[in-house]
Amino acid sequence: MSTATARMKYPRVKNYYNGQFVDSSSSADLDVVSPVDGNLLSMVPMSSTDELNAAVDSAKKAFPGWSSLPIKERVQVFFKYRQLLERDLDELTALVSEENGKTWEEARAEVDKSIELTEFACSMPQLVSGEILEVSRGVECRIDHFPLGVVASIVPFNFPLMVPNWTMPNALVLGNTMIMKPSELVPLSCQRMAELLREAGLPDGVFNVINGGKEIVEGICDHKDIEAVSFVGSTKVAKLVYQRSTQNLKRCVALGGAKNHLFVLPDANPTMTATNVTASMSGCAGQRCMAASAMLAVGNVDPIINQIVEEARKVVPGKNLGAVISPVAKDRIESYITDAEKAGAKILLDGRGAKVEGKEGGTYVGPTVIDHVTPDMSVAKEEIFGPVISIMRTDTVDEAIKIENENPYGNAASVFTQSGGMARYVMEHASAGMIGVNIGVPVPREPFSFGGWNESRFGANDITGKSSIEFWTKLKKTTTKWNPEAGVNWMS
Ligand code: NAD
Repeated sequence: MSTATARMKYPRVKNYYNGQFVDSSSSADLDVVSPVDGNLLSMVPMSSTDELNAAVDSAKKAFPGWSSLPIKERVQVFFKYRQLLERDLDELTALVSEENGKTWEEARAEVDKSIELTEFACSMPQLVSGEILEVSRGVECRIDHFPLGVVASIVPFNFPLMVPNWTMPNALVLGNTMIMKPSELVPLSCQRMAELLREAGLPDGVFNVINGGKEIVEGICDHKDIEAVSFVGSTKVAKLVYQRSTQNLKRCVALGGAKNHLFVLPDANPTMTATNVTASMSGCAGQRCMAASAMLAVGNVDPIINQIVEEARKVVPGKNLGAVISPVAKDRIESYITDAEKAGAKILLDGRGAKVEGKEGGTYVGPTVIDHVTPDMSVAKEEIFGPVISIMRTDTVDEAIKIENENPYGNAASVFTQSGGMARYVMEHASAGMIGVNIGVPVPREPFSFGGWNESRFGANDITGKSSIEFWTKLKKTTTKWNPEAGVNWMS
């Protein structure tokens, strides 16, 4: 055993297929490091395409048995899985927090959300009962949802447990079998998820996990036996995955990055606005695709900006602010702040150089509020993915809407105002898939579906909720005529 492996808190991450945890034969491993303190948690293999092929074979073998079970039987496994998530709530919270760096409360919310997603999947029998109608005397048309076959889910680092639970429960309850590709930065929660599914009684091969990077993602997009690919991650990779898998004639939904705008109007409730804006920009250290990143200050909202700075001062790295994922991420975020300063913006609160006593190896950035940003600056245009808010000042709501509309992303936008008319106006004109009114993080709860617009999502469906049913199934339309005495000769 090398010194590095001896220091590891957990054994090397395994792949999972045919119901077995398998040691990868790859010799290319990456360190899994906790952003909390820089400690080595584990090693993750960069698996080969042969290993991906073995996992797809396992999923393919499991498909006929799993898909032919009535949905009411399939769903029983997920009632049990939900119980296990609840049983292991503290353990899962600790794991998410240490591998991702988020605070205990944020990690706990992620497990709670995974439970809610599973509950939605458990309600699926009520949602997919199909349709039937007598279309002519004695002639009946019916529609049934059929599973697609082997499907894949490629996930990012920022929600190690929740994002896999966006896709896995719905896809499986609907009768598909799945290959999951975790983020190589946070592979431990997915491995634990596989253990829980096995304990819940999921048949072998229905759920499979292959660890790796680019090569595995490309292998998934190219694999002839994979019918559909869901992806969540950066826009750059979302485009590649969408193009490559649709080129190979697969279904694909690929969610990308974000630059979410908050419109703050002078009549907004100052305390509600300041607390919501601060929580949105700093929650999960700004590493949420729904995080507030740009604030459009319409007219004179100086008192609200002052209050935001006061609120943000209460957000302290290592206490109620978690770590960012890696030293690379910390450098990227800090250089955005430096670039804004050089370009003439005013830093009202500076999170650069944050250190947490006793956790010197951790990667922290403090909350950062930048004022007088102009739309041409990189902090105004690009996704920063850190606890940073860039304030742009406008005289009118239309000017603010123009800035928001010109940004290529379109995940979320929120408006803070007491005026129903203004809220409605922004809701109609913002170019984003998820809108908040006096809400900093407007995530639609189940059964409403999650998905952005523009370069924040490629493909026709949202990834959760009712919209995902269309993605994970194909419709079969059957027309039946049984009673000759009806005397109908309809399309005989
Ligand atoms: P990422 O794009 O770097 O990685 C996502 C997945 O793609 C990982 O599994 C990774 O292994 C793989 N990957 C990375 N580079 C690749 C390449 N060149 N070719 C093929 N595969 C590759 O994203 P991330 O850094 O893990 O996550 C953060 C990003 O995800 C942010 O942009 C964030 O906005 C976005 N995100 C979006 C949503 C949404 O709902 N729109 C949700 C969560 C995260």
